[in-house]
Amino acid sequence: MFHVATPVPAVRPSARKRRVAFVVVGAVIAGLLAIVVTLLVTGTFAAAVRPIAPLAPLLPFEPTADDGLISGDTEVTLADHDLPAIARLDPALAEAMRDAEMDAAADGIEFEVTSGWRDDDYQRWLFDDAVDFYGSEETARQYVATPERSSHVTGHAVDIGPLDAQLWLIQYGSAYGICQTYANERWHFERATEPGGVCPEMKLDAEG
Ligand SMILES: [Zn+2]
Repeated sequence: MFHVATPVPAVRPSARKRRVAFVVVGAVIAGLLAIVVTLLVTGTFAAAVRPIAPLAPLLPFEPTADDGLISGDTEVTLADHDLPAIARLDPALAEAMRDAEMDAAADGIEFEVTSGWRDDDYQRWLFDDAVDFYGSEETARQYVATPERSSHVTGHAVDIGPLDAQLWLIQYGSAYGICQTYANERWHFERATEPGGVCPEMKLDAEG
């Protein structure tokens, strides 16, 4: 006798295809989920959707009051101790300048501080700007000192205006130990001698 094999119920081809497609789609979704979770966990995704924060350090440097900036639209005097440009001046220079300021006031002259202490970054920024303007580091050095050489960075220099205050200091400054130190900067003063002493010969410029 022979028997007829019971036909194994075949999986219909269309059903198999559907199962394969289901597995493939599932794998793809799982893969994508894994990538998103990884990006979220590592912060890459968060960084990508918030581009402003990571880019901030790439913005060009702009000096602020903390760097010693005195903005052009504010009138600053030696009494403005809340500004780092004034507060971080060398104490001996600040004291000599205040003595001179008091006596100049008796002559009807007021000192305005146009620049005082500056930090390295601010001085570097000024120097780089001068290089752009004059076209070479060599020429720029005649007008702006590098951070390594600037007496503003150490707090040993102060720029004074307006013209009548500059002329007063050029004439009487040595009585307080204050001298114009660069021939091409009639606004730039340093404590360069003893009170009542003789000012040293001026350097030609910031490079001299
Ligand atoms: Zn100066």
